[in-house]
Amino acid sequence: MTILETKDLRKYYGKGDTMVRALDGVDLSVEAGTFTSIVGTSGSGKSTLLHMLGGLDRPTSGEVIVDGERIFRLKEEALTIFRRRKIGFVFQNYNLVPVLNVYENIVLPIELDGNRPDGRYVKQIVQTLGLEDKVQDLPNHLSGGQQQRVAIARALAAKPAILLCDEPTGNLDSKTSLDVMGLLKVTSRQFSQTTVMITPNEEIAQMADEIIRIEDGKVIG
Ligand code: ADP
Ligand code: MG
Repeated sequence: MTILETKDLRKYYGKGDTMVRALDGVDLSVEAGTFTSIVGTSGSGKSTLLHMLGGLDRPTSGEVIVDGERIFRLKEEALTIFRRRKIGFVFQNYNLVPVLNVYENIVLPIELDGNRPDGRYVKQIVQTLGLEDKVQDLPNHLSGGQQQRVAIARALAAKPAILLCDEPTGNLDSKTSLDVMGLLKVTSRQFSQTTVMITPNEEIAQMADEIIRIEDGKVIG
């Protein structure tokens, strides 16, 4: 089953001589439950693409279809709700709330959405990510790799249809990067979590089930 699809997706910034075609007709599709990496050099359009896939910004033209919904046909408020319910994000910066402990950070989005966390599911995620001993700790007592694992746990706990990660290991050393990547792969399998990860790193990209290559705003190969 296809869970994510784009059709002739374009995003142009600026106009005239200085116009940048950040995305220049992207067609891609992602099967539910798979782990896909999107790899490309700096400036190739990766972050722009991720923002469009997650409905964080509107394209110049084209469609993004998530779980059967053409998301940019939704009005702003409906799109915000859709994004909150369906999309999980992990960014290079962990964006944890410093005054909340690890557990509180993980369940915060669920509670903000007016729901009660699924305690068993959260516990499984915490165990899989090796955070059992850290749940009471504040984020600034953790290493970068641990903080990114908390950010991943937080995104997974809300059971998003799609987990979108933008260079999640960009601030980590190479060993920690491979550890975090391995965990993303494990969680994708264990929780049948559709995961799309952007990376400039070919070695990291190779750990995914599917690889999409992007260059100058176009999918190549
Ligand atoms: P990547 O994440 O692969 O490094 P980006 O998607 O951030 O690439 O950027 C793709 C291109 O679009 C680059 O040329 C970048 O300078 C340009 N770009 C990105 N965001 C903006 C913006 N808000 N305004 C103008 N140009 C932008
Ligand atoms: Mg980027």
